[in-house]
Formats: sequence, structure tokens, C-alpha cells
Amino acid sequence: MSYQLLKQDVLFYQRFLKANGFYDGKLDGRWGPKTDAADAAFVAKSQSVKADFGAVDAKSESNIVTLIPDAQIAARKFLAILTAAGKDIRILSGTRTYAEQDALYKQGRNGNTLPKVTNAKGGQSNHNFGLAWDIGVFENGNYVGTDSKYKAIPAMVLPQLPQLEWGGNWISFKDFPHYQLKSVSDSVADIRNLFENGTAYV
Ligand SMILES: [Zn+2]
Repeated sequence: MSYQLLKQDVLFYQRFLKANGFYDGKLDGRWGPKTDAADAAFVAKSQSVKADFGAVDAKSESNIVTLIPDAQIAARKFLAILTAAGKDIRILSGTRTYAEQDALYKQGRNGNTLPKVTNAKGGQSNHNFGLAWDIGVFENGNYVGTDSKYKAIPAMVLPQLPQLEWGGNWISFKDFPHYQLKSVSDSVADIRNLFENGTAYV
């Protein structure tokens, strides 16, 4: 999703802003002056993170700015390590609203013939809380989907970024392009509860 889409789901965005210390107003889904000020503060924080840790390609930029600030920092460090190692890695997705997650969940189910891409409905993925991103490996400018290319990445980054978890380590559904910032609980239900109440979860 893009930052513009994030702004359009006002209740979702208020929860995101409140849980991350930018907003102290009501979670009412109405865009008023407090939401406006919180949005401006979040955008300013994103810009300062970008200035501190460096700009990357346009696709990754569009996704990084949908993450919570600590995840933005981790994502930029992640890309910097890989760029220094001569890799062309791009961030292809970041935060998703619940509605976007629900739309993704429908892929491959109930007569939809596309391949299944997720087992998570809205509120059941760390992508819904600004913690997670998915990468693409590129070679000579072209996207490469081979699993082995993705399995080679964690050893290059995780020793330097212990605050991250890799989806390839999951038991039930191995998700090789997926990285996420560790949060206060391993339970997505716990994180969802904190997020929806506007309480910090990292
Ligand atoms: Zn993911």
C-alpha cells in the first residue's frame, strides 16, 4: 500500500498514529485537527529517518514510509547492508490496512483462481501493524523469485539486526521474502489488541 492509501482509512491510521506516540485524540475515524497534526508529525519523523539513514529506490521508499518509525530505521539499515554487499534488494510491500489484508486473503479462495498468498485475514498479519515488509531480489534489474536467493539473505543481515525476525524461520508457513520487527508479544492477537487500542507494541 502507499502512504496515501494509509491516510484514507482514517480509523486504521489513527490507531497506527496513536500506538506509535503521534496521536492522543479519539479513535473515531474522523479526520480532525489532531489527526492532521499527528499525520504531519509522522511524515516529519519519516523524513528525518530517511535523512539519517539514506534514501533507496522509489519502490522501496513508497513502502518504507508506511512502516512504524522503528521498522523504517530497521528497513533502511537492512537495505544499506545488502547494498554494501552488492545486492539489489527492494521492498515490495509494507503496511496493509485490514481491508487490504482481507482482499489478499480472498486470493485463491472461494472460486478465486489466483494462487493463495496468505493465511492471514485483516488484523492477523504483522503487515497490519506497520512491523513487516516483504522483499524482492533483483538481478540485472529483473525480479528473481528463486527460493535459494531469498534463503541467502538472512545470514547477511540478521547478525547485525537482531531486532528482526525472518519469515523463513516460521514452522507452519515459510515466508522467505518476509521480515518483521520484533514486538512485545509473539501473539498476533496480543499485538492486534494493543494496536486497536492505540497502545505501544514495540
Ligand atoms: Zn510478509
